[in-house]
Amino acid sequence: MVRLLPRLAVGAAILALLGLAVAYWRTSRVPAPQEIAFSDFLRHVDAGRVASVKLSEAALDITLTDQRVVRTIPPPGFFGTNAAFVTDLARRGVSLEVRSTAPSIGLQYAPLLIAFCFMGLLAYGVYKTTTGRISSIDNRARTADPDSSQVRFGDVAGVDEAKEEVAEIVEFLREPQRFQALGGRIPRGVLLVGPPGTGKTLLARAIAGEAGVPFLFASGSDFVEMYAGVGAARVRRLFKDARKHGSCIVFIDELDAVGRARGGHSLSHEEREQTLNQLLVEMDGFDPQLGVVVIAATNRADILDQALLRPGRFDRQVYVANPDLKGREEILRVHLRKVTTDPAVDVRSIARGTPGFSGADLANVVNEAALLAGRNGRQAVVSSDLEAARDKVMMGAERRSIALTEQERVTCAWHEAGHAVVAAALPQADPLHKVTIIPRGRAMGVTMQLPETDRHTYTKEFLDTQIAILMGGRVAEELFMQNMTSGASNDIERATDIASHMVCEFGMSPLGPLAFSRQGQEDGKGRHVSEETARRVDAEIQAIVMRGYDRARDVLDVHRGAVDALANALLDVESLEGPEIESVLARSGLTRAH
Ligand code: ADP
Ligand code: MG
Ligand code: ZN
Repeated sequence: MVRLLPRLAVGAAILALLGLAVAYWRTSRVPAPQEIAFSDFLRHVDAGRVASVKLSEAALDITLTDQRVVRTIPPPGFFGTNAAFVTDLARRGVSLEVRSTAPSIGLQYAPLLIAFCFMGLLAYGVYKTTTGRISSIDNRARTADPDSSQVRFGDVAGVDEAKEEVAEIVEFLREPQRFQALGGRIPRGVLLVGPPGTGKTLLARAIAGEAGVPFLFASGSDFVEMYAGVGAARVRRLFKDARKHGSCIVFIDELDAVGRARGGHSLSHEEREQTLNQLLVEMDGFDPQLGVVVIAATNRADILDQALLRPGRFDRQVYVANPDLKGREEILRVHLRKVTTDPAVDVRSIARGTPGFSGADLANVVNEAALLAGRNGRQAVVSSDLEAARDKVMMGAERRSIALTEQERVTCAWHEAGHAVVAAALPQADPLHKVTIIPRGRAMGVTMQLPETDRHTYTKEFLDTQIAILMGGRVAEELFMQNMTSGASNDIERATDIASHMVCEFGMSPLGPLAFSRQGQEDGKGRHVSEETARRVDAEIQAIVMRGYDRARDVLDVHRGAVDALANALLDVESLEGPEIESVLARSGLTRAH
């Protein structure tokens, strides 16, 4: 009923609008009566040619005896001074009709009315979209997501420390009385911190699932709206719903969208501050006996307002990291359980080939592999499906449709061979996994290395080598094509980035172990540096990149034969795997340097 009323109102408004529009259209189409001078009208009266008159202050509509209809405008105040005129007319046998207003007065104002109705509708629309979104959150919260009750800790893999830390919350939610009897302090707010796709949302759902309590989901970005006060109202509603449920999990994704440190004066800041204040008020306000636990997720704990992290609010932080080798294997297994998998698949070796992948990336790999298997008419996912899916997630999908000219293909082959030969010749480099001149994502070709084990820190030698490998592509263009292409832009960007980290953060330059703020760095970590220092920082970054460039040049100059051999092989078959690359290079006298 409540929902019906606004709809009826809108319906009525639309009908009224249509009616007015039609009426206006019709009158504007009826030919207006011919207007005559008042003196002519008097002459018609004297001559007895007037059959009837419709009288008003504004106009007289006259029907003549010959059925013609004409109109005339009386002089202002005419009837006031000539009251006898009307009786005189009647005496002459003219039929009289008196109206209080001018004939089409309502219709004269029709355009105005229509505009008015329109504005009303528009205002209603705006009102509707604002409140509509509020009520959508409202509803979502109230019905508390049935899916999430299915998720269990077993579905979250590779983040054992985080799971241990939140296990206690499950205990508490299951048996709050027992917990309180023991005098345990119940956490109110838990902040899950970690990079995107590591399973923070999944973990929060699993807590609700394990404890068997409702899961109320909201995203920080839902609270940031352009209408002042809307965000705060939504926070209020969310917590109102939570209290109705009693024991439950309130999950706020992307907390940083509302919880950024305060300061600044723009309107959006004010709105966010209101929302943030409301959130703080709500978190302080609810009764800990109630069993509402607020879990929030962010990947930027460092930019959160300190007020959020005080005791009684999000005072417990749980770090959810990207998985290590063992974790990746477990996550792959969790997701492979859901698809038919060939028993011969070596999950560990797939896990080894996915360093730096997040849980979401790994879920994506399994999903892509299942699609590939299906496309190839296989009954089960095999190793090659998983490897192809891994390459796709890592390097972007192959774009065989893109038409390279022969010149581009040749340049690309030597460019990639340049990277590969530098990587093969330098002792610190990771083994080559694949070299291809099939365009992928935005790259024309790809040279891909895979580390033998996960890397947690980088040595200076490793980083120098990485820069030399990146320079290998451009150097090959110059040495073998006597040219340069824009294809090296991404290599150059990455090399510059590594070098700048080395100088400004890792203390790996003659400037010493100092932190320098880098250009364009938003959060302003590191010291502010003098102009003189900035110049020296720039010079050191350049020196590091140029050293890598010279090193690549030396390597490729010595191993010209190997570059030619690899480039020709690439032109032949487009894509070479690790062992194939090794055998091509070995035949031209280059064996892996380690
Ligand atoms: P986040 O919230 O940290 O960005 P999500 O929880 O949204 O990450 O993860 C997205 C998807 O990736 C999950 O639905 C799940 O399929 C997969 N995933 C991520 N991390 C894990 C994990 N640790 N174990 C199993 N699956 C995971
Ligand atoms: Mg998430
Ligand atoms: Zn390149």
